Amino acid sequence: MAEHRNDPFWKLRPPPPTPEDELCACVDGPPIMLQAHLSPNPLSCIACNSEVPPECVGFPEKLAEELASWQSFHDCFYVLWLDSGAFESWAEAQLDDPASTVHMRGRALVSELNVFRRAYYWWFQRVDETIEPRTSCPVCERHLTEAHGRRICEPCAVVLAV
Ligand SMILES: [Zn+2]
Ligand SMILES: [Zn+2]
Repeated sequence: MAEHRNDPFWKLRPPPPTPEDELCACVDGPPIMLQAHLSPNPLSCIACNSEVPPECVGFPEKLAEELASWQSFHDCFYVLWLDSGAFESWAEAQLDDPASTVHMRGRALVSELNVFRRAYYWWFQRVDETIEPRTSCPVCERHLTEAHGRRICEPCAVVLAV
């Protein structure tokens, strides 16, 4: 980014707030996704994919705290996987397993969010030439349906990344 060009230490500085034009501006309250993406707020809009400011959904401080804690918890696995070191395959197995603690906790939070706005759990899937996009839900194996231009398992409230 341009503002980083003259600062070799920018990665050691606190991140700037998400720019206004990268925030969801949908007016009709589309569903949200719990989507960890290495930034403090894991809420994204299912329609425009942008970050949804928590105040636009509105929920208790306790849930905000749980979301922040899940976000850091999820990042631990994601970072170990990205690191491609000794823990890569272990982290990958955790991220691939719908019954892992990180996904169970995440899906429990989606149920809580659902009280305030229809919410889905964003299911990350790596794609390369050896991996076909899934046609069934990673949790219940039901056939996925299309909604909001995405593939979804409505009963599990899971939305596939690809
Ligand atoms: Zn939006
Ligand atoms: Zn399902």
